[in-house]
Amino acid sequence: MIATLFPAIDARTDELVALTADLIRFPTVNPPGEAYTPCAEYIGERLRRRGFEVEYIRAEGTPGDNDRYPRTNIVARFDGRTPGPTVHFNSHIDVVEAGEGWTVDPFGGEVKNGRVYGRGACDMKGGLAASIIAVEAYLQTSPDFPGAIEISGTVDEESGGFGGVAYLAGKGYFSRPRVDHVIIPEPLNKDRICLGHRGVWWAEIETRGKIAHGSMPFLGDSAIRHMGAVLNAFEDELFPALDQKQTRMPVVPEGAKRSTMNINSIHGGQTEDFYPGLPAPNVPDSCRVVIDRRFLLEESIDVVKSEVRGILERLKRDRPRFDYEMRDLMEVLPLMTERDAPVATAIAEGIREVFGRDPEYVISPGTYDQKHIARIGHLHDCIAYGPGILDLAHQADEWVGIADMVESAKVMALGLDLLLRGPRRN
Ligand SMILES: [Zn+2]
Repeated sequence: MIATLFPAIDARTDELVALTADLIRFPTVNPPGEAYTPCAEYIGERLRRRGFEVEYIRAEGTPGDNDRYPRTNIVARFDGRTPGPTVHFNSHIDVVEAGEGWTVDPFGGEVKNGRVYGRGACDMKGGLAASIIAVEAYLQTSPDFPGAIEISGTVDEESGGFGGVAYLAGKGYFSRPRVDHVIIPEPLNKDRICLGHRGVWWAEIETRGKIAHGSMPFLGDSAIRHMGAVLNAFEDELFPALDQKQTRMPVVPEGAKRSTMNINSIHGGQTEDFYPGLPAPNVPDSCRVVIDRRFLLEESIDVVKSEVRGILERLKRDRPRFDYEMRDLMEVLPLMTERDAPVATAIAEGIREVFGRDPEYVISPGTYDQKHIARIGHLHDCIAYGPGILDLAHQADEWVGIADMVESAKVMALGLDLLLRGPRRN
């Protein structure tokens, strides 16, 4: 099987490069969700010509969806001749904004020095193209396969996936019996298998005060000074405590093997937007911060929240006139597929075959669409595996290596075969 499959992938190298470049030329920038429909249709028409059943699913009513920026997803399915499991390759088609500092056209799909350049080359149009080429080569060389193969291009991953995988999962696209195994070709490096991600809790904390004239602050009560007390307590107690928490999860990079918290934003006092150049003359009666707490499999969400609430409650007891409100904005539990799960085992075998060594197993510091497949679809045989160097994602002059894409296409095709037919007997 490998004797015909791998040459069929090698023979498609130019096609793989052209496909990646074509995908990059759709400026699917999110927000606002530009060019989703033409990009989805490009993928859908290609797969339809190769015999796939193609569906376009617009996530109506999800954040950002409107007639100017429709949230258009594409799902393609190819049924084999006999019953069997379904393997699904899911890629997001949206990219983040280009930003500054590019030396090539971010949406030009330029090819040079064995790389394809552009916004999304690495995250993750290269992975999408590699999975399409892997499947097409597989269909040519193993036309009698059992089960079914699906390929999807979904939107809004970069903004939480609500109009993409979450929406489709809510409609049953990522559940048994329709789908059994899911591979997400995110750029985790060609010889690594990503088993899941840390947890996330976002919350907004607001301190309250009393408005007064800025020349007589003793008549008011500064919400910003109260927030200062909160931030001091975080510095003195919370950050050092988080730093001590280590996980058994193989998170990369190394620094993310611990609990972390970012303070995403702080807003206090009267906005200066209404009075450009004029400072606010009042004692601020409100100050808000948004915290982004990333947590580990070993931590429960309840403990994570109570650490913060404990500090706020103590301040309420000890600090005169201190009061606060805390609102949850988002929570995602940590997720880890086990290494002996079928999809992880199959891709590991592919990596051994192509690279002659065992895979490295990793956990992503941030979440990706696997969360929706687990939580909404209740499907747990899911990993991320794809070409591209993780560190290049979202940077200027983003690129994906052509040889890396070819090799990872071989890993995906072999993993696909193992999942559909079961372990080889020879
Ligand atoms: Zn991505």
